[in-house]
Amino acid sequence: MGSRSEAGSAAGSVTQLADQLRSFAEEREWQQFHTPKNLAMALSGEVGELLAELQWLTPDQAAQVMADPQAGARVRAEIGDVMIYLVRLADVLDIDLVGAATDKLADSARRYPVEIARGSAAKAPRS
Ligand SMILES: [Mg+2]
Repeated sequence: MGSRSEAGSAAGSVTQLADQLRSFAEEREWQQFHTPKNLAMALSGEVGELLAELQWLTPDQAAQVMADPQAGARVRAEIGDVMIYLVRLADVLDIDLVGAATDKLADSARRYPVEIARGSAAKAPRS
């Protein structure tokens, strides 16, 4: 395993993570709090915490943030929080998270054909 993984990633798949998070909530009787609204709000809050780690950095500093051990650890922790709430929200809504993302990627591939979109950040017209 490369530097991106540590012991915590041993679970492997998104499905396994969803199972772990469901068990974590059930053991604490927290399902009652894990409504879609609450989870979406928590997800947004964690995305805000991730943004807070990057907001005052220059683009170059942000690109190098993982080279700073303390800042990198904070970014990694916030990415973990975002993932937790995203996976938990998808689980509560019975959405296949990887399937949903795969469908969106296929949609983007149709909207942005390589021969037209390569090297361009222009938005595709709505269809
Ligand atoms: Mg956080």
